[in-house]
Amino acid sequence: MIEQILADIVGAANLDVDDAISDEATHDEALGGAVVRPRAVVRPGCTTEVAAIVRLAMAEGVPLTARGSGTGLSGGCVPSEGGIIVSFERMNQILEIDVANHVAVVEPGVTLAQLEEALETTDLIYPVFPGEQSASLGGNIATNAGGMRAVKYGVTRHHVLGLEAVLGTGEVISAGGKFVKSTSGYDLTQLIVGSEGTLALVTKATLRLHPRARYHATLLAPFATVDDVARTVPDIVASGIGPLVVEYVDFLTMAAITAQEGIDLGIPEGIRSRALAYLVVVLEDHHRDRLDEDTESLAGLVADLGALEVYVLPDLAGSQLIRARERAFWASKAAGADDLLDVVVPRASIPRYLEAVAEVARATGSLITGCGHAGDGNVHLSVFQPDAEVRGGIMRTVLATGLELGGAISGEHGIGVSKRSYLAELEDPAKLALMRRIKVAFDPRSILNPGTIFDAGFGEVVDR
Ligand SMILES: Cc1cc2nc3c(=O)[nH]c(=O)nc-3n(C[C@H](O)[C@H](O)[C@H](O)COP(=O)(O)OP(=O)(O)OC[C@H]3O[C@@H](n4cnc5c(N)ncnc54)[C@H](O)[C@@H]3O)c2cc1C
Repeated sequence: MIEQILADIVGAANLDVDDAISDEATHDEALGGAVVRPRAVVRPGCTTEVAAIVRLAMAEGVPLTARGSGTGLSGGCVPSEGGIIVSFERMNQILEIDVANHVAVVEPGVTLAQLEEALETTDLIYPVFPGEQSASLGGNIATNAGGMRAVKYGVTRHHVLGLEAVLGTGEVISAGGKFVKSTSGYDLTQLIVGSEGTLALVTKATLRLHPRARYHATLLAPFATVDDVARTVPDIVASGIGPLVVEYVDFLTMAAITAQEGIDLGIPEGIRSRALAYLVVVLEDHHRDRLDEDTESLAGLVADLGALEVYVLPDLAGSQLIRARERAFWASKAAGADDLLDVVVPRASIPRYLEAVAEVARATGSLITGCGHAGDGNVHLSVFQPDAEVRGGIMRTVLATGLELGGAISGEHGIGVSKRSYLAELEDPAKLALMRRIKVAFDPRSILNPGTIFDAGFGEVVDR
């Protein structure tokens, strides 16, 4: 029996079956997402155990789904019916921080918060900053997580130098390493990054670190319309100031996130009542005087670009605002949002994209609010429309608009199970067919996370 063999591989204490399986293992944080109870949850402690689990699953034809911290927003770690969850919570060691080479080597269950804490005593940071610090690095790699600092540092993909991973055949491969360049055959590291656990299970990662800037400044600028904010972004990026964060937040979202965190930014009522959107820009530097100079010129630029006012926030208020923005998802969820979108478009196309979104909202009598990583064109929208059919139409139109503008269905949350029908419908069939052939090469029996990204035919998920 599979359960007995799994217990032999990882030890009985690291296998949950029946009532021992917690509800947590049945879903992630996707709004209205799928809930599926796995056949078992297995917690391997090393790569050898992961490989043995995969070989067993392949022999028995049982689907496996990797799970990091379960903070995903697209249902990617939701198991297939009758499938097994491979939880990486025990593989949570930081194996090395190599200061000379600016590299960290980690197991996949290490969280962002854990890595940041370990780096606090060094002059280095891991700069990728998706809002949820409890997320695991394995999950970040599998979703190619982005976040607020992508406009300066790029996304997870740009920081994964190498991987150890177990393929769907049970073979273990090591790709890349402590170097930033390699032209030695196909780049398997980058193929696995963003593959949402469908090509391989990541068991070790070599990550790129950067020098830590000590000084930060946060600018907050209210604008009369969202469109006005969006139009500032190309100029800010072109200014050469090199911002760490460029976010837009619409007025409803700003009201919700500041109320949720209990913060008052001190914006006078006369300005607040006219502001339909806010621009938030964070700068960083290794030198105080250079930061002050850049802050001043940025404030001037933003004022010239039509801000109603420009505030340079005190350090505490600045970090509170960024923290509040990180937690925008929880405010949307508390307000009853029915679905989420994270379309990415070329940043200069954000105004046209938001215009189209406003038109869909008007036409369907829906509320669509949001904020986003404006610096890299990644717009996060919460859709409030309880009617599933109407909502499906909105999602389809908004995703199709993003693609027409030269963007992509998901900038960072992934396709998971929640966007796979839209991917199947809207993406180029030749690309989808190639992706499936790549999957077959890595995972010939479709053991790994079938049903994520595209329906690979292993069982069906049910709606929550
Ligand atoms: C409040 C909030 C804010 C967020 N903000 C952002 C944001 O700004 N930017 C952003 O990108 N995301 C954001 N997210 C989404 C989420 O945090 C990321 O998707 C994160 O990368 C998921 O990590 P996880 O460990 O929770 O992965 P899980 O949810 O457990 O899994 C995600 C995917 O990774 C796969 N996976 C996990 N571990 C492995 C492994 N070892 N090998 C292979 N596949 C694996 C899973 O099968 C699944 O497909 C946010 C989420 C929340 C709740």
